[in-house]
Amino acid sequence: MKCSECSNQASVELRYADKVLCARCFRVFFEERVRSTIEGSRLISGNDRIVAALSGGKDSVTLVKVLHEFASERPGVELVALTVDEGVRGYREKTLESASMICRELGVEHHVCSMEEEFGWTLDGICEATGGRIPACSFCGVLRRRLLNDMARKLSATKIATGHNLDDEIQTAFMNFVRGDVGRIARLGARVGVVSDSRFVPRIKPLRSCPEREVALYAVLNRLPVAFAECPYSVRAFRVVVRDLLNGLEEERPGSKLRLLETTDRLVSLLRGSAEHGSVGSCVSCGEPASVAKCRVCQMVEELSRRRRR
Ligand code: SF4
Ligand code: ZN
Repeated sequence: MKCSECSNQASVELRYADKVLCARCFRVFFEERVRSTIEGSRLISGNDRIVAALSGGKDSVTLVKVLHEFASERPGVELVALTVDEGVRGYREKTLESASMICRELGVEHHVCSMEEEFGWTLDGICEATGGRIPACSFCGVLRRRLLNDMARKLSATKIATGHNLDDEIQTAFMNFVRGDVGRIARLGARVGVVSDSRFVPRIKPLRSCPEREVALYAVLNRLPVAFAECPYSVRAFRVVVRDLLNGLEEERPGSKLRLLETTDRLVSLLRGSAEHGSVGSCVSCGEPASVAKCRVCQMVEELSRRRRR
């Protein structure tokens, strides 16, 4: 079959767009979509210094590659990459290797920070201390977000870019619909969060309109050094149910995923329009932004210290 855009042999079918593309035209199509997400949602301005959160998996490696192209066409935009080492034996070593490799290949400045250095705990240590009773992801998500924000400020970044793709976005939205968590739905969107505070570095998601399958394909076609290791603490039971459901829907009605994203975005802007934009306070312990007296990070670290003393 011929490519819909040129006379080459087609190798990729995009049913929702009614197109078949050759590898070269697919790359152009993918990069244009990311560019249009960035420009349509005004994610990046002319003098941004962007920190890309780089785990070493396909999404974040693709993110760095595409942002690198984007930044190299705009002299005022700078890109650096940051990997958070959570301290998971046998997993992080592999992904760190991929992260360093893509940065070396592209000449992108790469920083690595570790939870152990920052909080005195590796994720393995946390799981040991809690005896696995609290899911590792609950600690990891909160501590990693803090670390990313801290490091982004230290690196004088104006934006943090993450590699969330279309599937991640609509799965999260759908899970929140099912849970009835309107507050979390309001925090979705191309720009994360409802509260703006100068201590928060704004987070952006340039790949959010790209289906996961296409991100993987782009990584393969560009021979990007991607680690396919999965974190041993990953517990995604509910997300897997939602993923399968949404994949089935897409199969039945191509284009459903993109329409779900558009509908979610419309809802998010309605919710944000009616949300109260109160200011956020400061944690009594660490001084970081907090909506209660003591932030979640300080609460977690104190609880872990108590367990260590027992
Ligand atoms: Fe952290 Fe959970 Fe992701 Fe593992 S799966 S890196 S524990 S958030
Ligand atoms: Zn605190």
